[in-house]
Amino acid sequence: MNKVAEFASVTGSTQPDRMRVGVELGGTKTIAVVGRDREIVDRIAVPTTTPAATLGAIAGGLREWRRTFQPAGMGIASFGPISLADRHGTRGEMLPNPKPGWSGADVLTPLLDAMPVPTVLHTDVTAAALAEGRYGAAQGLADFVYVTIGTGIGMGIIANGRPVSGRMHPEAGHMRIRRLSWDGFAGVCPFHGDCLEGLASGPAIAARAGVPGDMLPPDHPAWVPIADALAEAMTVLLLSLSCERIVIGGGVGLGQPHLLEMIRTQVAGKLRGYLPGIDQQTITDMIVPAALGGDAGPLGALLLADAEA
Ligand code: ZN
Repeated sequence: MNKVAEFASVTGSTQPDRMRVGVELGGTKTIAVVGRDREIVDRIAVPTTTPAATLGAIAGGLREWRRTFQPAGMGIASFGPISLADRHGTRGEMLPNPKPGWSGADVLTPLLDAMPVPTVLHTDVTAAALAEGRYGAAQGLADFVYVTIGTGIGMGIIANGRPVSGRMHPEAGHMRIRRLSWDGFAGVCPFHGDCLEGLASGPAIAARAGVPGDMLPPDHPAWVPIADALAEAMTVLLLSLSCERIVIGGGVGLGQPHLLEMIRTQVAGKLRGYLPGIDQQTITDMIVPAALGGDAGPLGALLLADAEA
């Protein structure tokens, strides 16, 4: 049985010269990379279709890399929710989720069969957070949150330099928030209706406005409750985690600069000066766009591998 470690630490690898493998299993595409630190020497990308086809294609590439590069470790960054802990013997099992065919799928076994090396599994958003912390918009910080706003809303939380896991992993995109009193939108989350994801994800924006967000002008009134919902959530993050920065990524998060500005203004307004040093001026340095783009996931998966190799 291969060793499958829980996340240990991203600092200090015992084999710094050895290659690692990173796999980012995303909702629409899956990317595998082999490399060392920030240097990626080879890459495979396949569309995420069925578990068998997607994981089979990646496993084929991993077998070749094993012969060519003899990697020392593997990091797997997966969309979720997914079981990270082995308390029920289910590590790597996809939990109930809306993606057809993936609920209950075993993500880990096919990849470990192809690449039997020490492996760390975490969420795609946690990996992106690690990469932004090492190379991107949260460099040098020990307490920050990466928030992706796109088809869904996901958050990778780094506290005291380590990813938060706990019982499973944070699902803060589904937090309930106080809503604008006049906003009667039912929300689109199949589990909760008007949770944060149900109110402000890409599909929520399209349902509210009748067109996708990238076709909505910045002054469209639909942005007001969307920005308010996101600002409520970020106020909760600042108050509950005492984080130093919130890094915003995802297609909606990065595609709508005016939305980021609205969120900043509203967060500062909601806090009303309660947290020292956070005001309309300083909030620009605390809520920032992600810096690494599409490479955050694969680079973060390599950082997960570093923790164990
Ligand atoms: Zn929800």
